[in-house]
Formats: sequence, C-alpha cells, structure tokens
Amino acid sequence: MSASAFERIVEQVRELSGGRCRLLAVSKLQPAAAMRDLHRRGQQDFGENYVQEALGKMHELADLPLRWHLIGPLQSNKASLAASRFDWVHSVDRLKLVPLLAQGRQPVASALNVLIQVNIDQEASKQGCAPAQISGLADEIATHPLLRLRGLMAIPDPQRDPVVAFARMAQLQRSLTERHPQVDTLSMGMSADYPQAIAAGATLVRLGTALFGARS
Ligand SMILES: *Cc1c(COP(=O)(O)O)cnc(C)c1O
Repeated sequence: MSASAFERIVEQVRELSGGRCRLLAVSKLQPAAAMRDLHRRGQQDFGENYVQEALGKMHELADLPLRWHLIGPLQSNKASLAASRFDWVHSVDRLKLVPLLAQGRQPVASALNVLIQVNIDQEASKQGCAPAQISGLADEIATHPLLRLRGLMAIPDPQRDPVVAFARMAQLQRSLTERHPQVDTLSMGMSADYPQAIAAGATLVRLGTALFGARS
C-alpha cells in the first residue's frame, strides 16, 4: 500500500478514538518485506494467526524491535512455544491454557500480555469462551506473575450487526475492570468494521486487508 494510505488509516484511528485506540497490523499470509515496510513508517505491533508462520518472520525480522501478537486459535501443544516467543496472546479461551502459558514464559522472565477471547455471538464453530467464563479465567490468569491480564478480544459473527456485539463487549470489559482494575485493552474491530468498534470503545483494532490488501 502507499505510504499515504497507511498514514490516512493511522490518522483516522487517532481521530475517531481521541488517541485511545492503537493499530495492530494483521500480517498473516503477508511477506516479511511488507511488514518491514510498515515498520519503517512507524508500525510496531503485528498480529499473526499461525505460530509456525510467525516464527519464520520473527527470524527474518529479528533486527527490528517489533511487538508480536498471536491472534489466531491457540492449540495446547503450541502454548508453551507461543508464550516464549510472542509479546501478546489474544486468544486465551480456556483454563487449561493458562498454566501452559505461564510455564512457557519462564525463560523470558517478563510478563506475557494476555487477552481473553470471548465468543460474543455464541457461534458454534468459533473460538472464545462464553461471557460467563470470563471472570474465572481472569482470576486464574491473575494468579501467575508471568502473565499480565490486559483485557478482552472478540471476533463478532460476520453475518450479524457487529454494533450489538461491540456494545456487549464494552459492557463485559467494564465488569472485568471492576475486579481487575489494571485491565486496559479491548481488542475488537477489523477492516470491515473498525470505525464502529472504536465508537464502542475498542483500544486496539486489528487490520489486515485495509493495510496490506487482499491475502493471497
Ligand atoms: C485475519 C484477522 C484479522 C484481520 O482481518 P481483516 O478483515 O483482513 O482486517 C483480525 N483479527 C483476526 C483474529 C484475524 O484472524
């Protein structure tokens, strides 16, 4: 994409959110060179869906001070590896993952930033916990010094009006903050709906195609 198109989106996110929302560049299936290009224009946070693909790009881009976010589904057998290599994991949705992430983080010694993924439209095939499971997961995450609970993440059902889901997520985030006041991140909104997500209170929008164009 052209430099001015990237800068337009950065500026739009800043204006719509009054500076409260940051941009996560979703780079799955995009080449490392495109990420290097965005970094040169000021982008530091990148989201990847697949652990193996991300490891390859971490190697290629090891000279850059990037922050790596795992936003795809997390399998238990990849949890330890993911915890040792990423800076953020957005897809924690079951208790079983929590001790695996904490153990995997040990060699790094700084805390892993963790978001709880919520299946906000209760889709049968979707990752994410039910809203009623958030507080139990949050309490468990908070017991581990190497995990830092930052907030919630969701991917609304593309067949429905996302505004309803975004409003419910904002409400869930407010409830979570009462019990865990350090929570500061609400990850929601993608290329098709990020203005609505920001209006509802998103603090991190995850943009792939709007930044990089279509994935091959
Ligand atoms: C692919 C993906 C995105 C980005 O989607 P776009 O529509 O390309 O912006 C955001 N979040 C998650 C979890 C994704 O898997």
